[in-house]
Amino acid sequence: MMTTNSTERRFRYDTGGRWFKGNTHLHTTNSDGGKTCAEAAEMYASAGFDFLCATDHWVASAVNETCPRDDILWLDGIELDGHDETGARYHVVGLGKLTGITREMGFAAALAALRDQGALTILAHPHWTGNSFDDALRWAFDGVEVYNHVCRWLNGKGDGVVYWSAMLQRNPATLAFAADDAHLRPEHPGWNGGWIMVNAAERTPARLLDAIRRGNFYASCGPEFRSIRFDGTHVKIETSAVQFVRLVGPAHLGQRLGSFDHQRLTSARFAVPVEWKYAYLEIEDEHSRRAWSNSLFVTIGT
Ligand SMILES: [Zn+2]
Ligand SMILES: [Zn+2]
Repeated sequence: MMTTNSTERRFRYDTGGRWFKGNTHLHTTNSDGGKTCAEAAEMYASAGFDFLCATDHWVASAVNETCPRDDILWLDGIELDGHDETGARYHVVGLGKLTGITREMGFAAALAALRDQGALTILAHPHWTGNSFDDALRWAFDGVEVYNHVCRWLNGKGDGVVYWSAMLQRNPATLAFAADDAHLRPEHPGWNGGWIMVNAAERTPARLLDAIRRGNFYASCGPEFRSIRFDGTHVKIETSAVQFVRLVGPAHLGQRLGSFDHQRLTSARFAVPVEWKYAYLEIEDEHSRRAWSNSLFVTIGT
């Protein structure tokens, strides 16, 4: 991790490890999914995924005990749903090894229990749920789904980027996830539409969860970041062939590179203004598929 001399900001990326592809939101026959853990794991492994999170509704997974695999790494998780005391409805994915979570606890108590047990909390598909920005901000979630593949299928409300912007304005460390929310049933067939790529030294639950918590990953619906570096003033990236590269800041602020002919971009370099409260990278390919870095800096001590 690099630290600038002139500011208190810490660069979050160290892309010198390996990239691991994973889906952080999956339902199996343990709740309303159509495939068993073994069947889902086989599908995802065949598509090049390195890890999968079991996030069944109100079922804290113990998936390495119940469904051990050599070809894909399982991370434990859960999905909560319910209303808080304001009446707002939520779906929240929790990542981590959890015990004692039941629907009877209610949403707020279950969310508190997730945090007590060290889980990462992700606001799932806020557009589809019908959340307001106040809802998104109320519970200080660690992250949000900027893309949810099954919600795109259900009614086109799979995009959470605008909620992420509101959350970044409050807390620039807020993490961005793209996820399948795969149910793998005939009426919800989609998968391998949104994922995260985590950079870590090795594929173990502890290493991957630590990298996710630190923000050393990006979310994607297609394009790839190959490296993300900072030299003290400029962020430099290498990517798969894309049409647009954007450095995105608060409100209207941004910088961009674009290709309007048949040439495609595979690298970019931007000076990152110190005064921006947050700055993340967005790349977009010729099919309008996007990928998002997390905010590049966090304030030291947060
Ligand atoms: Zn949900
Ligand atoms: Zn779900």
